[in-house]
Amino acid sequence: MHRSSTRRPHSIPLRLLSASLLFTQALFIQALFSQAGAAQSAMVESALSTQEREIVSWVADQEDDMVALLERLTNINTGTLNKAGVAEVVGLLNTELLQLGFDSRTLAGDVIEMPSCPGSEYTIDVADHLLATKSGEGKRMLMIGHVDTVFPVDSPFQTFSRDGDTAYGPGVSDMKGGLVVMLYALKALNHFGELEDKAISILLNSDEEIGSLSSRKYVEQQAALHDFGLVYESSGNNRLTRARKGLGQARFVVNGRASHAGGAHQQGRSAIKELAYKIVQIENMTDYESGVTVNVGVINGGEARNTIAPCAEALVDLRYPEPQQGLDAVKRWEEIFGSVYSYPVDSGELSTNSWTSLHRPPKIPTEESDALLNKTIAIGRLLGQEFTVTDSGGGTDGSLTQAVGLPTLDSLGSDGTGAHSKREQGRISSLVERAQLSVVLIGRLAKQP
Ligand SMILES: [Zn+2]
Repeated sequence: MHRSSTRRPHSIPLRLLSASLLFTQALFIQALFSQAGAAQSAMVESALSTQEREIVSWVADQEDDMVALLERLTNINTGTLNKAGVAEVVGLLNTELLQLGFDSRTLAGDVIEMPSCPGSEYTIDVADHLLATKSGEGKRMLMIGHVDTVFPVDSPFQTFSRDGDTAYGPGVSDMKGGLVVMLYALKALNHFGELEDKAISILLNSDEEIGSLSSRKYVEQQAALHDFGLVYESSGNNRLTRARKGLGQARFVVNGRASHAGGAHQQGRSAIKELAYKIVQIENMTDYESGVTVNVGVINGGEARNTIAPCAEALVDLRYPEPQQGLDAVKRWEEIFGSVYSYPVDSGELSTNSWTSLHRPPKIPTEESDALLNKTIAIGRLLGQEFTVTDSGGGTDGSLTQAVGLPTLDSLGSDGTGAHSKREQGRISSLVERAQLSVVLIGRLAKQP
């Protein structure tokens, strides 16, 4: 994270932020059966044991309870800035985890200040996160889920509903469905005495939808202490994600000089005019060939039609396939923020404050992460679940863990579509399917040499 100048934090409602640079879904989907596809055909898992079959069938009987929990979680608003709602869901899940024998502790959230124009004061006050741990034998697993959604407390999209096998509501697939899958996989293991000896940690963070700006340090710390990362983001439509682009973001504020648009035009320094020049430079950074894309997603500024604008601001989204491309993009941003394009001769009254963050590194497949992916696909096959493999332009916390060396699969949650929109929906039968998948996966990973 990087801030180039300080001033009071203020700014733009989070819903604008959510709608633009925080949109992490499906920018590009491709590469069915790329390298992973080639490897997966070679991977064969041994047939389900009697014990595994019993656990799997127990999970199948839990669907009604799983749906009831999904409904309960969905009906509690957990927009990232709704600290009370986030705390309520964290508390509810914590109670369940304590009953399963986990020890838990709170990880403090942070107050994140952003530059912005006067009059739209804005600070992100992130709710606390939760870490629940259990010591045990064998490989150590880190299971990650976020409790926040992109829907603020005043969003019109607030309640759970069901039509046959489809659930509707904010977060049903991103990712309250995933939280239900995670919890029921643990409950199933516990019911059969298979949880007690396992080394598992659960990290529930409250700020994934704003890029894990507060929880990133905890995610990375925990990644270093475990052998496998399992993230319960949605599996889309029976899809597992192999590689992801890196994500970056910038907020910048141009300060100019207000003046009467008629009587004293020449004395003004228009922040909007300067912002416009900068936007052109920033948008020109997009290069489809190299995979780098930049999007100025939100702009805001000015005071009145007949006033030269004293302030204007913008939010920028960045996607990049390779780590170096992210660093290069931030360098270019800094050049743009540090230049004045609109009044090159007399620019003394113009300044720019900026904040940039490469909040998600690219998720680059490794031998270990491909092995984890292929094992999951092979286990899925034993359970009658067929997966395709995709790459994605969106990032998850799995990108953070994988970047610090933890082999991670980050699409183990329930199926769904329409995330980050009022069209969000989830396939109810996938709750059971994915919990069954996790139960077998966790059991077998724990025993791996
Ligand atoms: Zn999510």
